Amino acid sequence: MLPHQAVPYVPPPWCTNRLLNPPQHGRLLLANLPTPMYQLTGRTSFFQTLGTMNVNFYIKRDDSTGGVELGGNKIRKLEFLLADALAQGCDSVVTIGGEQSNHCRATAAATRMVGLEPHLILRTRQPDDDLGLVGNLLMDRMVGSSIYTCTPGEYGRVGSNELVRRLCAHLDSKGRKAYGIPVGGSNGLGSWGYINGVNELLHQLEQAKAPESSSNISLEHIAFACGSGGTAAGVAIGIALAYATKAVQDKAPMVHAIGVCDDPDYFYNYVAGIATEMGLVTEHGEPAEAFVRQHMVVHQGKGLGYAVSTPEELAFVSSFAQETGIVLDPVYSGKALYNFMKHVEQNKSTFQGSSILFWHTGGALGLYDKIIDLLPSLVRAFPCRRLDLYGKGTGVDLSEPET
Ligand SMILES: *Cc1c(COP(=O)(O)O)cnc(C)c1O
Repeated sequence: MLPHQAVPYVPPPWCTNRLLNPPQHGRLLLANLPTPMYQLTGRTSFFQTLGTMNVNFYIKRDDSTGGVELGGNKIRKLEFLLADALAQGCDSVVTIGGEQSNHCRATAAATRMVGLEPHLILRTRQPDDDLGLVGNLLMDRMVGSSIYTCTPGEYGRVGSNELVRRLCAHLDSKGRKAYGIPVGGSNGLGSWGYINGVNELLHQLEQAKAPESSSNISLEHIAFACGSGGTAAGVAIGIALAYATKAVQDKAPMVHAIGVCDDPDYFYNYVAGIATEMGLVTEHGEPAEAFVRQHMVVHQGKGLGYAVSTPEELAFVSSFAQETGIVLDPVYSGKALYNFMKHVEQNKSTFQGSSILFWHTGGALGLYDKIIDLLPSLVRAFPCRRLDLYGKGTGVDLSEPET
């Protein structure tokens, strides 16, 4: 099997009559799936708080969907988007995002995997064209992306879709055939990645239920970071439709999307737009936005602003990593879990005795952008110590007695 050969995609039975625009060109098998899902316990205040509330905490590791270049949630969407690009006979892909965009990095690498050329528009305040090689940018450049920059002001005025459209037109005029992917890959096609993700999760829950398995999980809450809305659309719609059928016996878990850049109203509206694009048929013909609001809560989690971290958020990401060995990212997953936990603590009765799944969406390369903020506390807590091999009396004495 070659990476650029699409396999047919058969939507899960629970959505066939409810999502009328399934993917037409199949799916590429680019991600390492299923991603692991398991329970986490620990001793830090995070786990103590959950413990006093009798909450079971699970994590689903979509940070491990691929290697450093592919990992994270975007590759699930790209399995469908790039299948479409190939079916249309395109030779180039254009997408857009922030300077440290995980989406652009994953798109660039996946694009190369299937023999297409990556063109990235990056939003940056850097005055010159030299963006450097920090974090995601190193991966963008390693795979040979053509990088174009615009200012946040230009991005706001012209709009991301229009910027993608113009660069596609420019490349087409040079004899290329470009495929445009919107911010985050979040449209009616890309979001199928998380319909598929929900199906995967349901199988994992089903397996945990099997008689030979000791862990019967019934989830009450699913939480994850929300940036461009595609993950939220796939998870919320997928959970709503799957649990609406007789296929799943349990009560549907509540879906919590934690917005890290825009306000909740923006996301309800945007996710409703994706739902409409996917051809959502609501049960009683209610508008898509009413459906979305019924099946998902969007929380305000942007804190100081997109990609801006508070010391508390970074300290949380550090202590979580030190306790669990799992590295969240500062821009999405870390900020989201930090803010979601505040919500849990402020609404103890809602979460008392429940099972919560946190869907880790990746992004650890973003930590390189925060090194200056992380360094002092990490060096203080975990200093490097010099080995003293010759008994000089400084450092950690590993000298051996002379024989
Ligand atoms: C893009 C991204 C998200 C947000 O997903 P959307 O589908 O864009 O809402 C969350 N976490 C990480 C690490 C991401 O890169």
